[in-house]
Amino acid sequence: MNDDIANLKWIDLHLHTSCSDGTCTPAELVRIAADQGLTYISITDHDTINGLREGIREARQQRVYLVPGIEISAKYTEGALHILGYGFDAEYLPLVDQLKRIQEVRRDRNVKIIERLQSLGIQIALEEMMGEKSDLKSLGRPHIAAVLVKKGVVRTMDEAFDRYLGKQGKAFVKKEVMTSAETIRLIHDAGGVAVLAHPSTLRLEGPSFAAFIVRLVAEGLDGIEVYSSAHTVLQTQAYLDIAGQFQLLVSGGSDFHGANKQDVTIAVCNNGRPIHSRMVSETLLQLAVPLCDSDADRKSDSE
Ligand code: AMP
Ligand code: ZN
Ligand code: FE
Ligand code: FE
Repeated sequence: MNDDIANLKWIDLHLHTSCSDGTCTPAELVRIAADQGLTYISITDHDTINGLREGIREARQQRVYLVPGIEISAKYTEGALHILGYGFDAEYLPLVDQLKRIQEVRRDRNVKIIERLQSLGIQIALEEMMGEKSDLKSLGRPHIAAVLVKKGVVRTMDEAFDRYLGKQGKAFVKKEVMTSAETIRLIHDAGGVAVLAHPSTLRLEGPSFAAFIVRLVAEGLDGIEVYSSAHTVLQTQAYLDIAGQFQLLVSGGSDFHGANKQDVTIAVCNNGRPIHSRMVSETLLQLAVPLCDSDADRKSDSE
């Protein structure tokens, strides 16, 4: 029994780095994950794969299995529809090109939000948002929220989103994004699997949630993030049931953003507890890059 516990492999398949809106660099994040005793992780930055190379290098050093990941926002009106891609070919050109386009949209939108804030009488400059970063492409609303907090315009990040940056906020600017069908297709074309992130942000329940899942499954959805820091006990159970009903892969992760989401702790995604490898689908863990290149060689020799 104790042996069994000792053999459990702790995992977190939803993590952000400073390549999007997290506060740890990819290498720092991997070291934190290793210190926390995690065996499997995924870097799932918003709309970018720029952190993967550094993350994989450090993961190999730390003997942590890293699944290449990404989180793409798809078209949705009520809440948020985010789709995670895992195990894709990060050099697949149509994916690289599309991500470039999305980042350009992100840059233009950041400029518009800053202009709206300025027109509301808030003294804020693009340079303040950028901090140490050299371009605007990988930045988003959390960076602007952090500046608003720092300047004392609002007290908390939540207040920044409620009053200015969220969908009901005074400086909200819509972002043109792909539909869920297009997003899933792109992930598949790149050889990856598509997983619905934190389904609770869809703000759907019961039959309307099930109907939405039917649509996503028809579009090719492979899995669902059952375990997330965003879910209540009841939601976690409901998503586990739905995964069984539609034979979807089961995934889980904290959605850690470092200091940009203070209420989220790395690895904690099951109602205050971590999750282990037997709680998610093995298919997802098998997408981890080998710990060293020779592992990959051995694998291809035996195929
Ligand atoms: P963007 O990518 O620019 O549209 O910003 C979306 C990001 O803002 C996501 O990572 C969300 O997790 C984050 N976000 C949304 N609401 C809040 C909030 N109240 N506090 C901090 N981050 C938030
Ligand atoms: Zn984020
Ligand atoms: Fe998300
Ligand atoms: Fe996320």
